[in-house]
Amino acid sequence: MTTDKLNTVVQVAVPIRLRKVLDYQLPEGYSSLAEGTRVRITVKLREMTGIVVGSKKSELPEEGLIRVVRVLDESPCIPPSLLKLLRWSSSYYHHPLGEVIQTALPSILRGDSKIKPDLPFRYYLTSNGAEALNGIPKNATNQRLLLTELSKASPDGLSSSTLSKLAPSSSTKLLRDRGWINVREDSRDFLYVGQEQDSAAIALNQSQRSAVSEISVALQRYQPFLLQGVTGSGKTEIYLELATRVIKTGCQVLLLVPEIALTPQLIGRFKRGLNGKIAVLHSRLSNKDRHIAWWAAREGIADVILGTRSAVFVPLARPGMYIVDEEHDSAYKQQEGFRYNARDLIVKRAQQDDIPAVLGSATPSLESMQNAKIGRYGHLVLRDRARGAMMPKISLLNVKQLPLTFGISSPVLEALRLRLDRGEQSIVYINRRGFAPILWCPKCNWRARCSRCDVYLTLHRPSNQLRCHHCGASNKPSENCPDCKHISLKAVGQGTQRVEETLQKYLPSARIVRFDSDSIGKANVLAERLAQVLEGNVDILVGTQLLAKGHNFPAVTLVCIVDADSGLYSFDFRAVERLYQTLTQVAGRAGRASRSGQVLVQTQYPENSAFSRLMENDFSGFVDFELKQRQLANCPPFVRFVLLRAESVSSDSSIRFVTAAAQLGQQILRKQSSSIRLMDPVPSPMERRSGRYRAQLLVTGCVETALHRFLDNWLNELDKLEIGRRVRWSLDVDPLDIY
Ligand code: ADP
Ligand code: ZN
Ligand code: ZN
Repeated sequence: MTTDKLNTVVQVAVPIRLRKVLDYQLPEGYSSLAEGTRVRITVKLREMTGIVVGSKKSELPEEGLIRVVRVLDESPCIPPSLLKLLRWSSSYYHHPLGEVIQTALPSILRGDSKIKPDLPFRYYLTSNGAEALNGIPKNATNQRLLLTELSKASPDGLSSSTLSKLAPSSSTKLLRDRGWINVREDSRDFLYVGQEQDSAAIALNQSQRSAVSEISVALQRYQPFLLQGVTGSGKTEIYLELATRVIKTGCQVLLLVPEIALTPQLIGRFKRGLNGKIAVLHSRLSNKDRHIAWWAAREGIADVILGTRSAVFVPLARPGMYIVDEEHDSAYKQQEGFRYNARDLIVKRAQQDDIPAVLGSATPSLESMQNAKIGRYGHLVLRDRARGAMMPKISLLNVKQLPLTFGISSPVLEALRLRLDRGEQSIVYINRRGFAPILWCPKCNWRARCSRCDVYLTLHRPSNQLRCHHCGASNKPSENCPDCKHISLKAVGQGTQRVEETLQKYLPSARIVRFDSDSIGKANVLAERLAQVLEGNVDILVGTQLLAKGHNFPAVTLVCIVDADSGLYSFDFRAVERLYQTLTQVAGRAGRASRSGQVLVQTQYPENSAFSRLMENDFSGFVDFELKQRQLANCPPFVRFVLLRAESVSSDSSIRFVTAAAQLGQQILRKQSSSIRLMDPVPSPMERRSGRYRAQLLVTGCVETALHRFLDNWLNELDKLEIGRRVRWSLDVDPLDIY
C-alpha cells in the first residue's frame, strides 16, 4: 500500500482517567493539526475538550474513526516545550496525560473559550476630544467631567472602573460614538508594574553578591542551585537582583512560593525594586484573572510570574530562570489526584529549557541537601542575617520538671510579661487549632471520636463544637458521658483557642491575636491581621504554622513553642526533618530587626539531638545525622518510595486490592530481576477516614529507570484487576508521608 492511501489520524489526550490517548480523524479541511492544539471531540457521545498530542498514519479506513468536531486554537494553546514537561510528568508520576494537561490549563480554557482573554480597557482622549472640551455646554456635566479628567490623565488614560465611578456608562458611550475618546487594551490593570526607585535599592552584602554572581555565570544554561540562607539572610533580595538581571536579557522569571499568604509581601518588594511587569497566579484568583495572568505569561507580557504550586505549569514565552522559595515546604506537593511535586518538576523544567533553577530555603529538604552534597546542585550558603541581627538564642524548657497551666510554663509566662512591659511583640506557636484535642470522661475513660475516621474529635470554642480535622464532621458535645452518664467531661490538652484564653487570663492587658485557619478563613483577613501586627497594635500572636512561614515581623523578639514533641516520635520518616524545619522557621521570626531575639522551646525530650543542633544553629550537623539515619533505614533520598493507596467503603476491599496488587507485583519482579522491593500490604495507619477503609503498599527502588519500568508493567496489570473496580486506588510517586 502506498503512503498516500494512508489516512492521517490525530491522537488526542482527553481529560478523563484513561491511560492512553484516543485516535480521531482530522476535521474537514485540515491536513494536519499541531501538537498542543485544543480540539472538541466526543468520547462515548459526550463532547469535551482534548489536546492534540500527536498524529500518525493509519491503514484504517476513514469511516472507522470519529472525526474531530471542531478545532479551537489557531496556534497551539500549549507550546511544545510545556507539552514536553507535561509528557514527562505524566510518565514520571504515572498519571494519565489528559488529566495532567488539564491541570496545566486555566479552567476557562478547559472549555471552548478563546486563548486570548478579554482584557480590561483603558480610555484616552482623542485630539478631537481635546478640541471639543472647550465647546461643551455647561449643562452637559457628565461629558464635561469625563473629558476634563481624561485630559488631566497621563497618556495611559484611565481605566474603565475609574470612568464608571465618574459618570454613567451611557455618557462614556456617547463620547466614544462621537470619536472624542477611544479605548485600548492595557496591561496596567492586570499586572503589577514595578518601578525601580533609588529608595528601594538595597546594597547587597558580600555573601549576597557572591551568590548572585555565581548564579549569573550560568544564566543561559541549565544549572540547579541550592540557596541555603539562614532566616533573614536576604534571600528575597537575591531573587530580586537575579530577576532584574534576567529581565535585562529579555527573558522571564517564574518564582514559586508555597503560600498565597506570602505573595503580598513579595509583590510589594518586587514592585518597589523591579523594573518590569509582575503577574500573580494562585488558586484564590477568579477564573478570569487566572486566565489573564496565564495568558500574560504565555505571551511574554509579564516579566516575572509569581505563583503557587500549579504555576509550575504556566507557559512562558521566553523562560530565563526558575526560582522556588522555601523549597522544603510540603505545599509544593499536590496531595490528591495528580500527585506532583512542583519543586521537583521545576528542576526538570529548567533542564528541558536549559536555564538555571534556584531553590531557596533556610532549611532545605534532605533531598536537596543530598543533591548539593553530591554536586548535582550548586550550593550557595548565607550564614548571617543581612542586617547584622544576631540569630535568636534558643533555650529548652524541660516540661517534665515544670508545672504547666494549660500547656504554658511559668518561664514562658514571665518571658511574655517582660516583652509586654518593654512594648515588644511575641509569638506563641502551637501547631494545633481548636480548644482541646480530646474530650474525655474521667470516670470511664470514654473519648469523643469521629464516627467516620479513626481519630479523636477536637473541641472548639466558643461555638462549643466537636470537630473532626480530617473529614470536617462536627457535632455538639453532650453534657454527659454517652457511656456512663457521668456529668463532667474534661477537655484535655490544648489548641490555639485554649492557649489564647489562658494567656489572656494571666496577661489581661495584652492585645492577643490568634492566627489559625479557623480565625483566618480568607487571604484578606490574614493581610489585615498582618498589617495590625506591623502597625504595632498587637502584643502577642498565638498561632499555627500560618505564622511560621516567611513573614517578616520586625518587632517580634520572643518566640515560644508550646509543644515541640508532637513530631518527634512519629512513624513518619520525615517527622524529625519537619520538626526541625518548622522550629527553625518559627524561631526565625524572632529578632529580625535591631533587637535580638529569644526562643523558648517546651519539650519533654530535651536530650534529643535534634534540639541541641537546633540550639547551636547547626543545620549541617543535623542534616549529616539525619541523612545517615535515612541511609541506614533505606529511606529517601537514598531509595525511591512509591505508595499504592486504596480506599473503599467496605472494610475488606482495600486490603484485598493491595494484597492482590502485591502478588501481581511479585510475579512481575520474578521476571524483572532488580533492586525493587515490595513491602507488606497493610491497612493504613489511620485506617478509616471519611467513612472509607484505607490500605496501602509501599514499593521501594534504587534505580529510577528500573522502578518506572516496573510501575508501567504493574499498572497495566492493576488496571485489569476485578477487585480494583470496587476501590478507589492511586499511585503516589515520591510520597511526602507514607500514611
Ligand atoms: P530571607 O528571605 O532570607 O528570610 P529577607 O530577604 O526577607 O530574608 O531579608 C530580611 C531582611 O533583611 C529584610 O528586611 C530585608 O529588607 C533586609 N535585607 C536584605 N538584604 C539586605 C542588605 N544587603 N542590606 C540591608 N538589609 C537587607
Ligand atoms: Zn464515662
Ligand atoms: Zn472524621
